[in-house]
Amino acid sequence: MKSCGDCGMCCKLLAIQALEKEAGDWCGHFKRGCTIYADRPPACRSFICLWLDSDKLDDAWRPDRAKFLMYTEKDGQRLNVIVDPAYPAAWKREPYYARIKTMAQRVVDGYELVVCIDKRRIVIFPHEDVDLGVVDPDHKIVSGYALRDGERVPYAIVMSNLPEADAAPPV
Ligand code: SF4
Ligand code: SF4
Repeated sequence: MKSCGDCGMCCKLLAIQALEKEAGDWCGHFKRGCTIYADRPPACRSFICLWLDSDKLDDAWRPDRAKFLMYTEKDGQRLNVIVDPAYPAAWKREPYYARIKTMAQRVVDGYELVVCIDKRRIVIFPHEDVDLGVVDPDHKIVSGYALRDGERVPYAIVMSNLPEADAAPPV
């Protein structure tokens, strides 16, 4: 069974509303571990990164070593790779990049894999990376494959405040 040890990357990379903590800023309560562990907010209690949860990711993937953390949302249909802005190319190193591209094979089944570097978003497909640049956090990313002239073409677009049901691929 894995444990966080002195990792603490989620205490830096994630925004914690209850603490008014911005993503990318170290939490003021982190000093080689959480100094308010018993009283930490629910968002901290419930967060489990993919490395912690997976027996398929070895120690090289511990977020403080990899310099990025990963977590799933949308019932496991989206994987977010949150990169430490101090090491923006960390996810491009090996063995990480090749494995991330392998994970992206699931995109053909409706999975979404998004690399987040501060507010920059890059949607990963098996054979290409679509860099959307800086994306307003209130806006929604919609990605997948569209059929064009009988060919399946990857797309990733930013929709402003549209409910998911109204989002449609470009044709
Ligand atoms: S990023 Fe993962 S391993 Fe690191 S402290 Fe957070 S939950 Fe634990
Ligand atoms: S309250 Fe504790 S667990 Fe939550 S972000 Fe701060 S240091 Fe991390």
